Amino acid sequence: MKTSISRRAALGLGATAAASALLPLETWAAPAKHRVVVWSEGTAPKEIYSNDINGAIADGFKKSLPDWEVVLAGIDDPDQGANEESLKRTDVLMWWGHKRHREVKDEVVEAIFKRVNEGGMGFISLHSSHFSKPYKRLMGTKCSWGEYKADGTSVSVTVKEPDHPICQGVKDFELPKIERYGEPFAVPEPEAVPLDGQYTKPDGTKAPGRMGLCWTIGKGRVFYFTPGHETYDDFFRPEVQLIMANAVKWAARQ
Ligand code: ZN
Repeated sequence: MKTSISRRAALGLGATAAASALLPLETWAAPAKHRVVVWSEGTAPKEIYSNDINGAIADGFKKSLPDWEVVLAGIDDPDQGANEESLKRTDVLMWWGHKRHREVKDEVVEAIFKRVNEGGMGFISLHSSHFSKPYKRLMGTKCSWGEYKADGTSVSVTVKEPDHPICQGVKDFELPKIERYGEPFAVPEPEAVPLDGQYTKPDGTKAPGRMGLCWTIGKGRVFYFTPGHETYDDFFRPEVQLIMANAVKWAARQ
């Protein structure tokens, strides 16, 4: 009891919360549903993403992942939307960040790292989240791209590994605008690159850029997706929505 009292005090729980925390699990736990937490930092322009990027992605999941519990989380939530209790119940955490990477607390990063490594949670890093703290921690490298240009570049996204679960039902497609993240990408050698890409710059010249990369880190699966700049509507596009749903299922080993 001593441990639970001091822990309660440390968490600052009120009497009601403390009492419910002591109830046996079976009395309140919902039937075990797979759970994806879609996290973003609330900085996307409202004229494109009125409900931020996590809202747009979660809307897509209503159709594509009907049996899943889909949870929105963000940096302004208590515990920055990713405490240990929540992570423990989460199969996959998707992360979109850009301007507020530095605000993410180290204890949040460590909790995510541990949950992926030891608990097998999937982690999906989107676009500018290549520089997010949790993704960098998982990769253990700089995670920088060779260049960053939002200059009207377009991209052809190609299905490079048609049998990969992330490519199920996905056909090659174009994004008319993309922020160009040029190679090289300073990450460990991926175990798979299901989606490749070729940029076309405004002057017509071409450049390669990998679009979807996979790793296994400890017990967990990690996917990085290159598109998803906040001023483009990528997350409303059906092809991207399909990739997101496939990636969640793959990361959850479903
Ligand atoms: Zn961007």
